[in-house]
This record gives sequence, structure tokens and C-alpha cells, in this order.
Amino acid sequence: MDLNLRGKVALVTGGARGIGAAIAKRLAEAGCFVWVADIDEPAARVTASRLPSGAPLWLDVCDRSGLASAADRMQRERRGLDILINNAGVATFGRHDSTSAAAFNTVLALVPLMRGRPGASIVNMSSVSHERGGGSLGNVWYGATKAAVVALTKGLARELGPEGIRVNAIAPGVMDTELVRDVLTPEVRAAAIKRFPLGRFAEPDDVARLVAFLVTDSANFVTGQTVAVDGGFLAT
Ligand code: NAD
Repeated sequence: MDLNLRGKVALVTGGARGIGAAIAKRLAEAGCFVWVADIDEPAARVTASRLPSGAPLWLDVCDRSGLASAADRMQRERRGLDILINNAGVATFGRHDSTSAAAFNTVLALVPLMRGRPGASIVNMSSVSHERGGGSLGNVWYGATKAAVVALTKGLARELGPEGIRVNAIAPGVMDTELVRDVLTPEVRAAAIKRFPLGRFAEPDDVARLVAFLVTDSANFVTGQTVAVDGGFLAT
């Protein structure tokens, strides 16, 4: 499939590793210039250096003033933004009193850069945990924040649709990334994998390929949706 993303500018939060790095690679290979935006600057530099076209961007999604200066730089150097992938996230495990919630500021800072750009599109990273209040690996706060991502996706699709900006979300099942590695003991892994009808966890590129499709014109009438990439987990 010709993804036809040549000349587009994309930003992937949490793009230095895991799912974000796979998305950055897919988008860059499809022709985008990709800002690899991450709190871990050295890792972002390494990931960006491997892309056909892209640059690292130090960015903490919880820091609004930092986001505003990142937006200024992006406007100055690339004259706007076509594709925003809100992927950065932290997992929270254990019972409800052992965690904190993450913030969601990139939309406020970066949507102004997307206005007036034909085919502009946002993809937010949710999780299968949004359907059941956590419990696949993450805890109740994790599930609640991922449900908030689904609500945000629907509301933004409604508000930004008239400006031609589409907004969708992806809900992956468990993936073997650094995010979950500490809790994914051999016993937990064996039990978890049984809950996936396709018999394996997703690979980051399984998610990246769907992201790449959702941001192309092939999906130009798809907005406000949350698509699971879960090997059938939610069907069981
Ligand atoms: P990961 O831990 O491998 O990578 C996350 C990246 O985000 C890291 O590079 C980290 O430095 C960056 N990051 C963390 N906090 C940040 C911040 N405040 N500002 C900017 N960057 C920040 O995680 P992953 O597994 O690739 O997860 C990516 C997304 O996918 C998350 O939103 C996660 O909740 C979601 N997800 C993961 C799984 C899974 O099983 N791994 C399943 C469903 C959904």
C-alpha cells in the first residue's frame, strides 16, 4: 500500500523506544519528517539518527511551558505539524493506592500548529485496559487514564472535525516493552498469553502499521474511533 505521507511532518511523543520508536520508523519510512519527542533525550537522539528523516526533541508531556517552547521550535523549523501521535505513557501497577496519573497537554500546545494543514490527524494511545478499569497488567488508575484517552478522542474528533483534523485512538493489548518488563515474570507472561486467541503478544510494529494507516487519506472518513490491536483479547 502506498501510504503517501511524503512531505508530512509528524511528532511522536515517547518516540525514543518501544511502541513510539516503531511508529516513528514506520512514519519516516512512509516519507514523513518525524520529531522523536521524548523525556529521554539521549535515547531520542539514537532513535532519530536511525530514521531516514527526523530529529530528536526533548519534551516532557507533563510540562506545559516546555511544550509551548517545543511548539515554537517546530513552527520555526518545519512550519507546522500534520500528524500528532500521543503515545507517551507510564504504566502504574498494583492496587489503587500505589500510583499516580499522567497529564495530557500536547493537544493544547500542538493543535494550533495543525490548523489549516490538509489531512491533519491525531492518534492517541489508549489500551485494552480502558474497557475494564485496568487488570490486564496495569492497575485501576492506568485503566481510568486510558478510558479518559478514549473520551478525549471522541470529544476532540467532534470539536476538531469541522477544522478537518481527524482524531482516533489505538488500544493495544500487552506488549513486551520496557513499560511492563518488570511485572512480566515468566509466570505472569504464561498466564497472560493464554488470554490472547492469536497466541502471542503484539509486536510494536503491529501497532505502528495501524497508526500509519489511520493517518493516511485511506482513512479520511475515520474519526473518533478507538481500534484495538489485541490479538482478540477483548473478544474473550
Ligand atoms: P515504553 O516504556 O517502552 O516507552 C515509553 C516512552 O515514553 C519512553 O521512551 C519514555 O522515555 C517516554 N516517556 C515517558 N514519560 C514521558 C513524558 N512525560 N514525556 C515524554 N516522553 C515520556 O512504553 P511502551 O510500551 O512503548 O508504551 C507506549 C504507549 O503504549 C503508552 O501510552 C502505553 O500506556 C501504551 N500501551 C502499552 C502497552 C504495553 O503492554 N507495553 C499496552 C497497551 C498500551
